Amino acid sequence: MTDISKLVRENVRNLTPFSSARDEFGGKEGIFMDANENPYGSLNRYPDPYQRELKAAISKIKGVPEENIFLGNGSDEIIDLCFRIFCNPGSDKALTFTPTYGMYEVSASINDVTLIKIPLSDEFQIDGKSVQSKLKDPALKLIFICSPNNPTGNSMPRHEIESIISGFKGIVVIDEAYIDFSGQPSFKTMINRYSNLIVMQTFSKAMGLAAARIGMAFMEASAVGYFNKMKPPYNISTINQKAALESLTRIDLQKKRIRRIITERERITGSLKKMSIIEKIFPSDSNFLLVKTRNADLIYSELIDNKIIVRNRNKIVPGCIRITVGTKRENNKLLGTLRRIML
Ligand SMILES: *Cc1c(COP(=O)(O)O)cnc(C)c1O
Repeated sequence: MTDISKLVRENVRNLTPFSSARDEFGGKEGIFMDANENPYGSLNRYPDPYQRELKAAISKIKGVPEENIFLGNGSDEIIDLCFRIFCNPGSDKALTFTPTYGMYEVSASINDVTLIKIPLSDEFQIDGKSVQSKLKDPALKLIFICSPNNPTGNSMPRHEIESIISGFKGIVVIDEAYIDFSGQPSFKTMINRYSNLIVMQTFSKAMGLAAARIGMAFMEASAVGYFNKMKPPYNISTINQKAALESLTRIDLQKKRIRRIITERERITGSLKKMSIIEKIFPSDSNFLLVKTRNADLIYSELIDNKIIVRNRNKIVPGCIRITVGTKRENNKLLGTLRRIML
């Protein structure tokens, strides 16, 4: 097992965190005169800095102990914290497999960390051999693996991911934003075996709460401690914690919606396959389809003219657009519009 404190930046290891009023007294009852809050109103109190109620509910559903859960203001905050906790600006490196989610690169740049980009294969798979030699670089501290991957939609092979986690001394982050749309098991059960593993999930996609900005990360308890030390004390608002708690009481509804989205994904795939303007539909384990077309820029702008907004990925994956699965009505509108486009 890797000693996580050895992977943390020295200044972070030595950091004395801000101690909030709510840190010192965690109780719920009493006359609160400790945080300079206004005694009037309904949103007048600071939120629980550790989101204990929400973590307890997440713990039940995900089967991960509360002490192994960190919550961020979206996964995007967690990605940024990973850089700030594990990478020294100006000297350390991170690695990812491209094309992938754009925030890894943006966060790397913001934190002045060099990002090594290893291209995925033509089938968008990780080529294990191309990685192994890079893992020995002592400046490499952080690896991001997005699975199912955005924008390609596919899952990465489990054995490749595991051989990276076990062959690397730094931190491996697996971004599972789309895991609930896939038939693949989550890596969250592996955090006991690998102390250098962080598994990220989010309320933004399958849970339908993108507006609430809540990202989850599952990891060894001592690593959670460093994230808690680094985050702004009240990073998740009371309103957003409540929204997430409420969504967790309606898991059956969420699951029904996920199944509906998957059914629609398969139905659109069938219809798109018959269109001559579509050259290829990549297999998807997510709630979107990456589609290779005969002219992505033109199809994109024709769709815009019809008030249908897809993501033009032509610059990243030539010829491709990324289509998020909508409701049945929305999908029918998309298919009808595409059928009328002549190239
Ligand atoms: C959408 C998405 C997220 C979600 O980010 P949030 O900040 O939690 O909304 C994370 N990772 C990937 C790859 C995504 O596509």
